[in-house]
Amino acid sequence: MKILVANIGSTSLKWRLFDFSNNLERLLHKGGFERVTDYPAAIDDCLAQIKAAGHIAHESDFTAVGFKTVLAKNVTGCVRLDDRVLGAMEAFNGLAPAHNPPYITGIRLFGKRMPGVPLVGLFETAFYQFAPEAMMRYAVPQAWNDIGIRRWGFHGASHKFIAERSAELLGRNDVAERARRLYVDGLKTPTNQPGLRVISCHLGGSSSITGIRDGAAIGNSLGMSPQSGLPHNNRVGDLDSEAIPYAVKTLGITIEEAQRQLTKESGLKGLSGVSNDIRDITTAAEQGNAQAKLALDVFVASARHWIGGYFFELGGADAIVFTAGIGENRTEIRAAICADLEGLGIELDSALNASTRATETVISKTGSRVKIMVIPTNEELVVARETKRLLENSRN
Ligand code: AMP
Repeated sequence: MKILVANIGSTSLKWRLFDFSNNLERLLHKGGFERVTDYPAAIDDCLAQIKAAGHIAHESDFTAVGFKTVLAKNVTGCVRLDDRVLGAMEAFNGLAPAHNPPYITGIRLFGKRMPGVPLVGLFETAFYQFAPEAMMRYAVPQAWNDIGIRRWGFHGASHKFIAERSAELLGRNDVAERARRLYVDGLKTPTNQPGLRVISCHLGGSSSITGIRDGAAIGNSLGMSPQSGLPHNNRVGDLDSEAIPYAVKTLGITIEEAQRQLTKESGLKGLSGVSNDIRDITTAAEQGNAQAKLALDVFVASARHWIGGYFFELGGADAIVFTAGIGENRTEIRAAICADLEGLGIELDSALNASTRATETVISKTGSRVKIMVIPTNEELVVARETKRLLENSRN
């Protein structure tokens, strides 16, 4: 069973090919193109590379193609990408202008290139479909909510991976199984007592934090769009709703220019004035650049704010998990986020923290009530697994 996962950006195409034969999960091939101007040609080149590597003879050898789709009107979960679903994505182009249009175009091109091969989308919002409504609503008039102005939450594939893997590593296979079957069974799969509380911190170019109870998310720091929550590499994160009209009037800029600055010139880049990459910002801070130091401090304060919120909402935590580029690799950021929390039972082992990079490791002290873990994420594998599950379930 060969499942191709295609990651579509506005000017990029990346892919991974998984083989699930014989109850194994094997990554057969991965690759990608940046600065794509001719998408049909890029798809042809992708298929040519996979054929040249001997993994398929013909497109019909793919069991399915899976996509990490972002957001659609009244559709979430893991679904076949038929005309109804593509229409629902189109209906939310205005909410996800950087993501939905290229995905829709790309999916249609894949459909033309390999008719008969099922195309499946795992929506980034899927992991939040069971979150309490109180955690997902903005305090806006009903009509605003009805057009989609509510918290959707994103990074669902990554946080779902963490939900499954952290439960396995914590010896709770019942919870891991519940997380695995979430989009098939909803919250029905039973778990043994007591409940498992995990706070998943996906810290990277784009960052978000999620509270997870028994394998299901209770919310996410990303809200209606990927412009919210923590500061991102060059995107703003949380911002008061009065800020945009005030900036437009006071700086004499257009609303489009305000949007551009908030999506391209803000976040860690805007705060530091140095770079959108935390490695450069850390170097600058170490050399005495006060703005760079402030950018790191704002990032850490925001992470602690969201972790604290979920810690309270979950009534504590069994584990705090760090993942993605920053979470997996930046020991000093993990240390700053976990500083002075011994009173809450959160005790980082500084030697383990300092020696851990991008490997599955527990980095808390032996007696820490809350385990602190690093777990490298694998979003594409989640897309492939859910695609497989959907196909198997629709066959039964
Ligand atoms: P991501 O979006 O998950 O690829 O994460 C990007 C961010 O993680 C950037 O700010 C990088 O500085 C940081 N990052 C990624 N890889 C590494 C690494 N190997 N060592 C240190 N920082 C890294």
